Amino acid sequence: MKILPFPQKSENVSGSFTIDGHAKIFCDSDFTAQAEMLADLVYDSCGFFLQFTDIISEAQIIFSTDAALPAEGYVIMISRGVATVTASGKAGAFYAVQSLRQIFKLDTKQSEISCADGYVEDSPRFAYRGFMVDIARHYFGLDILKTLVDVMSQVKLNVLHLHLTDDQGFRLQIDKYPLLTEIASKRFGSEVSRNGETFVDDVPHSGYLSKDEVKDLVAYAAARNVEIVPEIDLPGHFVAAIAAYPELSCTGSVSEVRKKWSTSKEILCAGNDKVYEFVNNVLDEVCELFPSRYVHLGGEEVAKDRWCNCKLCRERMAELHMDSLEELQTHMIEMFRIHLEQKGKIVIIRNDGVTKSTDKAVVSQVWTPTKHYRAVRDTRFGRQIIVSPRRKVNFNRAYNILPLEYTLKLKPFKGVRKADRANVLGIEGAIWTQHVEDPDQLFFQILPRLDALAECAWSKRKKDFYIRLQKRLVCYERLGLNYNRKYVRKKGEKHADSVQQGDTL
Ligand SMILES: [Zn+2]
Repeated sequence: MKILPFPQKSENVSGSFTIDGHAKIFCDSDFTAQAEMLADLVYDSCGFFLQFTDIISEAQIIFSTDAALPAEGYVIMISRGVATVTASGKAGAFYAVQSLRQIFKLDTKQSEISCADGYVEDSPRFAYRGFMVDIARHYFGLDILKTLVDVMSQVKLNVLHLHLTDDQGFRLQIDKYPLLTEIASKRFGSEVSRNGETFVDDVPHSGYLSKDEVKDLVAYAAARNVEIVPEIDLPGHFVAAIAAYPELSCTGSVSEVRKKWSTSKEILCAGNDKVYEFVNNVLDEVCELFPSRYVHLGGEEVAKDRWCNCKLCRERMAELHMDSLEELQTHMIEMFRIHLEQKGKIVIIRNDGVTKSTDKAVVSQVWTPTKHYRAVRDTRFGRQIIVSPRRKVNFNRAYNILPLEYTLKLKPFKGVRKADRANVLGIEGAIWTQHVEDPDQLFFQILPRLDALAECAWSKRKKDFYIRLQKRLVCYERLGLNYNRKYVRKKGEKHADSVQQGDTL
């Protein structure tokens, strides 16, 4: 059974399975939506309109419940003319449909469906299998985000992390602060490089997710077992919002949404109580909109120059007996963490914002190579981490710098003791969009590196990855998505970089 991501157990047995337009489906009432998804895929592939039946013995496709199976796990048994899907919940049944999509070749036009008899028993390696898209630097609207959810869920990724805010744009409607959409969502130029020259153009760029759009996206994703994790990046990377509310910074002098891509020194003032009130109010609306367990607070790349010279920041440090600006940042994150904890949320921040005194409940997203070992060592003290080494998973990088093979060779447990592996929640890839301006470019950068990410997140084994990848490329072709055709493999051709073995942990 050639499935991507690689299943935990699978085998072909003698015998074959065929269905035509007279086949019937039986499903437990919990799995109606998933059975209908499969019926729709069969219709698109063959034009068969499969009938649902209440009599199990009439059915050639059966969806049934087994509460003993692991969360998100499923079993597929294809034997004696019947394909049976068993799962403990909707997520497992959904993933069984994604596997059947590949087994039955449902992304190809066919006159009938046929495959070898066989067996798949499957469940994920990691609970957190994520991908982040930066919609702050360039905005991609609801439809593109839904398409991203589609392709992620097809390969069993289950977290879409939205980088909603940055120096160059604030992309979420917040009722209490209307200037965040009136001013902070609009930029009147961007840094561009052309013919060896870098300059700031005067092309406007704008956009934001309205509350109704967020609700639509969250529901769409939930139906595909994808959780949307919102990110409000702070205390740095906040210039767009500061341009709308200048009193949030130490200097009060910011007058426009940032056009250049480099990190700004203008950050949130850590000594002003109004900043805490503002951010908590924003987070309250974020929590109402996004049901996710997690809220990401960024925390990376904070230039603290302004705090050195700010009366309020210095007073706050003295009041709290702090010796360093790092402690002040940790204090700020802690204030928001406590606020979010009261709402049942877990905070994630990037590892360069994590210090010795950062509360252990904060999840660290490890993305920097230089601090990687120190960051993963935190797992010894009970901190949970998400593994996101930028040299392997930042898909904005060109393919010649970050070929798909690099992602495939990601070792999620590198530097983590065996005893602490349970603290590795999972892995997450990313696309930063400073230089990604349109959907075609976006999907070209992501696909098919996303498949390699999914393989590492779901499974330890990677045998015949490039062979299994071909069905995914057919799917991208059918969906009309731009992808890197370098990985299309002609019949009989071997890919020079094929990884034949599982990683060695
Ligand atoms: Zn200040």
